Amino acid sequence: MKSELTHFYSTNRTVPLCTLRDALLQGQAPDRGLYLPREYHPLNADDLRGLKGKPYFEVAHALLKRFTGGIIDDHKLLAACRSAYDYEVPLEHVTGRRFVMRLDQGPTASFKDFAARMMARWMSALMDQDQGELVILTATSGDTGSAVAHAYHGVERVQVVVLFPVAEVSNRQRKQMTTLGGNITTIGVDGKFDDCQAMVKRAFADPDLKAIRLTSANSINIGRLLPQAVYYFYAYAGLADLQKLEPAVFAVPSGNFGDMMGAVIAKKMGLPISRLVIATNANDEVPKFLATGRYDKIVPSRVCISNAMNVGHPSNLARLVDAYGGWMDETGQVKEPPDLDQMRRDLYAVSVDDEQTRAAIRHAFDEFRLLLEPHGAVGWAGLLRFLDDDKPRPEPLCISIETAHPAKFPEEIKALVGLDPPLPLSLTGLEDRPESYQTMAVDYAAFKRLVAERFAPVR
Ligand SMILES: *Cc1c(COP(=O)(O)O)cnc(C)c1O
Repeated sequence: MKSELTHFYSTNRTVPLCTLRDALLQGQAPDRGLYLPREYHPLNADDLRGLKGKPYFEVAHALLKRFTGGIIDDHKLLAACRSAYDYEVPLEHVTGRRFVMRLDQGPTASFKDFAARMMARWMSALMDQDQGELVILTATSGDTGSAVAHAYHGVERVQVVVLFPVAEVSNRQRKQMTTLGGNITTIGVDGKFDDCQAMVKRAFADPDLKAIRLTSANSINIGRLLPQAVYYFYAYAGLADLQKLEPAVFAVPSGNFGDMMGAVIAKKMGLPISRLVIATNANDEVPKFLATGRYDKIVPSRVCISNAMNVGHPSNLARLVDAYGGWMDETGQVKEPPDLDQMRRDLYAVSVDDEQTRAAIRHAFDEFRLLLEPHGAVGWAGLLRFLDDDKPRPEPLCISIETAHPAKFPEEIKALVGLDPPLPLSLTGLEDRPESYQTMAVDYAAFKRLVAERFAPVR
């Protein structure tokens, strides 16, 4: 494939098309919309078959070069893929044609490592090109912050500020962010994830902070989405009948809907996905939207054991609506309705509450010795509900995504299946490292002061 320049547009459509470079550095578009690629460069049947047997980093390179062409040197991209994806991506057989893909083997044991590590390398390549300095602001409900902090820790010319809801992250999740130091600043906010997200969004739009080159590493940055299309291809190439190019079902536990948008992008790139099961916890605003066509945010978001999915207004929903021909603005207002019928044919949206999540963890372990943590269990329970409800015959290839390592939720797992999940190597030694973070009320003025004082360019 010849590499051609990909153009990116804003979901609000009032700013001109831009390149990957601009989209990465801006994060959110100037009109407060979200960037999406105009061209998806779909793979043909031979391209798809050609992925068979390739290691993960090569699949990543084959797909991502379609978007980075003309912006990031191909050799740099290949090196980035090789160094970012130096860990396993297990595809675990469960029963029949049902599989679980474990995206929990990265340095922070969450699927967010996949995108954060690639985006860090893209940013670093761009900064090399123009000798600039970058301040990354990110809000996290648990795992984004640590994945981003780890991905950027020690990267030259980049500073990272992480905001997290101080009472809603686990000890381990917090320690993963607060023990790094160096170019990583962590702030525990006495509020909800949505409060953190709102402060970050406001800072981006604040004219007083214009002198600082602020960018986002949240799932609103397109750099956080494109790498998340890769693992769907990888799983497909590893498990599907590539002669027939059979359609497959993926089940995605969802909060901000970045992971799911990765699957939507994969589908636009030619991956045969017949149905996408999008499973939320009790924050069921999207399943309700698909069922009724009416969208109501959940404020405040509901607290569930799958805490990284406690999102009452997913920022990527505007992209999903756009992908189906509608328009949702940054406040969550539906300005033009999407094609709901098509959405219902492609997507199966389901909400799984805590009780059902716990039952799914117990059942998966008792029945199949399948060890899940709360997020992956929401996806798995969603898949089972889809199969039970839709009864596709013969049963298609089904792949459910496990987004975190069970060892990150030791108390819950121990109580449910009587097992202490062994700590992956990446998480050992955390207990002994000193933490450093500050706390703050939900107070935009204080946050702004901190950013301005710490990062304003010296005149
Ligand atoms: C962030 C996260 C999710 C939700 O992913 P989205 O892209 O926000 O939908 C699910 N599981 C875990 C472990 C996460 O950290």
